Amino acid sequence: MAQDRRPPLLRPAINGHSMRIPHLINGQSVDGHEHFESINPANQQVLAKVAAGTQADVDAAVAAARAALPAWAATPAGQRARILHRLGELITRESDALARIETADCGQVIAQTGSHLVPRAADSFHHHAELCTRMDGETFSTPTHLNYTLLQPVGVCALVSPWNVPLLTASAKVAPCLAYGNTAVLKPSELSPMTAARLGELALEAGVPPGVLNIVQGNGRDAGAPLVAHPDVRLVSFTGSTATGNAIVRNAGLKKYSMELGGKSPFIVFDDADFERALDAALVMIFSINGERCTAGSRILVQQSIFDEFALRFVERAKRIPVGDPMDPATVIGPMVSQGHLARVRGYIELGLQEGATLLCGGIQRPDYAPAVADAVRDGNFVWPTVFTNVRPEMRIMREEIFGPVACLLPFRDEAHAIELANDSPYGLASYVWSENAGRAHRVAAALEAGVCYVNSQSARDPRPPFGGVKASGIGRDGGHWSLETFTEPKNVSISYGRHAIPRWGI
Ligand code: NAD
Repeated sequence: MAQDRRPPLLRPAINGHSMRIPHLINGQSVDGHEHFESINPANQQVLAKVAAGTQADVDAAVAAARAALPAWAATPAGQRARILHRLGELITRESDALARIETADCGQVIAQTGSHLVPRAADSFHHHAELCTRMDGETFSTPTHLNYTLLQPVGVCALVSPWNVPLLTASAKVAPCLAYGNTAVLKPSELSPMTAARLGELALEAGVPPGVLNIVQGNGRDAGAPLVAHPDVRLVSFTGSTATGNAIVRNAGLKKYSMELGGKSPFIVFDDADFERALDAALVMIFSINGERCTAGSRILVQQSIFDEFALRFVERAKRIPVGDPMDPATVIGPMVSQGHLARVRGYIELGLQEGATLLCGGIQRPDYAPAVADAVRDGNFVWPTVFTNVRPEMRIMREEIFGPVACLLPFRDEAHAIELANDSPYGLASYVWSENAGRAHRVAAALEAGVCYVNSQSARDPRPPFGGVKASGIGRDGGHWSLETFTEPKNVSISYGRHAIPRWGI
């Protein structure tokens, strides 16, 4: 049989252990002594055997990143930009394959990985490639001094990414990190390691020099924790849960941090909203990407006068959302990323019932209504779109991030009550306001404790504005020049014109 010459990750999948995913250290594939399996959550098949990183792998990767730093930091921005643009083009060239790998690896449906999530990963590289050629410091002059700021790379960065939208979250870190002259050790999630591995291969093909981007695969305890704590790591850019974010800060100590953490975002619908558009967007914001999205509008607050109609229509629509094979372009909700996460989401549904909430649709039972779940995916980690009402703000299903297709619907009286309910949360990532009254929309947007507020819209990310959270949702912002602030250290150089007074002590 002719040998398959395609790169390992593009060969047809893979029942059994034929595919290996190594680390990428100093431009070389490095296998691990131990391995873990990457499992397809739609059918429990093994997709790959992945190198399980340890302290020794982390040490080697950080050493490679440190050695590569001076030359990369000294590379002219225009040259770095050309390489990163090329990487964006390579992602676009391979977008179909990357979308299929991503969908197989984490269960997020092909309709979203293909049309949206993988293209946005390519956009990250183009965006930061362009920005880095324009980045510059400021000058401040006085009669005696000229101050200017140098924006210098921070150094070796630990980039720790989550399992949801894995290629995009990894790219949103790697792109600005490299664009501004840093070198990186990326640790993807152990639950969806595959597209990040391919990103490393494409980076080399694009011309990223060996050691500039290193990838250590593995879990949080054995690979993530030693990486963030490594003394040569200057910056930790982390996306993941708030609990892990706290653990990292305790473990890694004084470093520069960028933390994109969890959310429990309010989706507020006033009675003067465009009802139909608000309904469409409410469904999108809790059920897209399987509900496994940090910006999920999981607390849907609807003004009392339209609450019953909204809830009725929401549930009718939710029941008809296609759940099943994530490779089927018609599927909207695929399987939860792992059996552990499936158990967690089901646990929250049970908890909601124990707390006294009313289940309007969905629940913990196996799928049993249209569309039929094909035999091929009958072992998938599926959860039906689930909707609770009769919830109270103090219930755990209202306060904790479920990270699955589970919506809580709650009525509010007036503007002040909506703001009070929305802000009654430990989190503060996204927020959504629906009202045709412009004054009210501006007032509520300003009052919400959140890093992002979408008015009369689902989340519509533009790479330029700041993205990030307040309260337990994070520290710092990504996007546009805010990423520049994260990934550079400003240095003030203060130069005297040579005529200013200096005290002449001790003469
Ligand atoms: P997680 O916190 O379990 O894991 C995230 C990453 O951290 C993984 O790579 C994991 O291996 C690693 N890790 C775990 N323990 C570690 C430790 N002690 N030290 C260093 N690294 C460690 O999160 P997850 O379940 O992969 O992702 C889901 C979470 O991510 C949700 O809370 C979601 O809201 C959040 N998220 C936030 C954003 C955002 O932009 N704010 C985007 C996507 C996901």
